[in-house]
Amino acid sequence: MLAYRLIERKRDGGRLEAGEWRALVRAYVAGHVPDYQMAALLMAIFWRGLDRSETAALTEAMLMSGASLPKAPDGLPRVDKHSTGGVGDKVSLVLAPLVAACGAQVPMMSGRGLGHTGGTLDKLEAIPGLRTALTLAEASAQLEHVGCVLMGQTDEIAPADRGLYALREATATIESIPLIAASIMSKKLAEGLDALVLDVKRGSGSFLPELDRVLELARLMIDLGAERGTTVIALVTAMDRPLGRACGNALETEEAIHALRGDGPPDLMALSYALGAEMLVAAGAAGDEEEARRRMEIAVSTGTAAAKFAAIIEAQGGNPSVIDDPAILPQAAECELFAAPHRGFVAAVEPRIVGRGVVALGGGRTRVEDAIDPSVGFVITAKPGDWVDASEPLATIFARDAAGVALGRAALTQAIRIADEADLPLPLISHRISASGVERYSRT
Ligand code: URA
Repeated sequence: MLAYRLIERKRDGGRLEAGEWRALVRAYVAGHVPDYQMAALLMAIFWRGLDRSETAALTEAMLMSGASLPKAPDGLPRVDKHSTGGVGDKVSLVLAPLVAACGAQVPMMSGRGLGHTGGTLDKLEAIPGLRTALTLAEASAQLEHVGCVLMGQTDEIAPADRGLYALREATATIESIPLIAASIMSKKLAEGLDALVLDVKRGSGSFLPELDRVLELARLMIDLGAERGTTVIALVTAMDRPLGRACGNALETEEAIHALRGDGPPDLMALSYALGAEMLVAAGAAGDEEEARRRMEIAVSTGTAAAKFAAIIEAQGGNPSVIDDPAILPQAAECELFAAPHRGFVAAVEPRIVGRGVVALGGGRTRVEDAIDPSVGFVITAKPGDWVDASEPLATIFARDAAGVALGRAALTQAIRIADEADLPLPLISHRISASGVERYSRT
């Protein structure tokens, strides 16, 4: 009866009190509210929305549905980064060891790729032997000893989100700003963070392409963090083209290893340093942005950032020699260059088509339970705005077999548009949002 009355009230535009959200989420996790009622409530929320205090109450109820990573009172500052997802986005693999090498604890809980976007766990699991399914006790111990853990969401963290997210996927209710904010923040706040930096993507390959919706989501997550004493900063970044060059799991892991040695593509390096500086300053591990950047550059040039990644890999059962010899990552059987069909400007490298191309090659999933081939994907060197001659190489296709190469060729033919003119691509980082408001980003 409780659920029926609450659905009815939300359907009619009313609001639910904090105690009602708590009772509802507790009853749902205990199995006393069936999925069909929860799905109806999600659809009512999708249409009617939630006000700030309802969103905060739902977030809190989801957070309290599970356990949290304990934090030692005298421990290092703890910080994480969350990206709303993109194509070629291997920043987490660079940032987590880099920031940990600069003196902050990084408990990075990540997801798998689904749809056209890739997932950090799949990229990590390209490393032979590496385990991402850690218990909270294992994660806590690793955080203490190594300063960083790269793991999947456990059953212990925000179990309400698991059920609700699955229902949202099945009922077309993902694209609700309060539901996205509550889902992300309930998991992140369970990490016991001092600070969280959000990489909110905009552009044709992102989850929420319009800037005003992106800003609304970022502001909401900043407020939810502030209510629990966690500093949240957001950078709005470009996803109108893939990030870096590699798109595909093992290829992206290899590119991240190069970046940790200072030899990554310029956009990946710039975004990693910008997000890393925000993380170190927001967590109080660096006095200001200049100091944070200097410390990260030293960690990269002296090899301590790469050594930290090796320590994380070893702690999670993977082969740390991958840092010195990325060739031990799974290798595709076939590779072929993809060349420009004619001269002109690169007018677009459409990330959704590239991402779907990786899935078509076997490197992503259309259902959560699908197995993936980590070796396949693309390395795309062409960037929007580049001038190219006819037959100039734009990319390399990595595939299992000749049929895969043909699929890859078809995807790139559609994704990479050569024209007489090219519009300006979005700035790599366009806005910075904090509790003090929105500012244009002017540091890169
Ligand atoms: N990522 C999440 O964890 N939850 C959402 O609702 C959307 C993206």
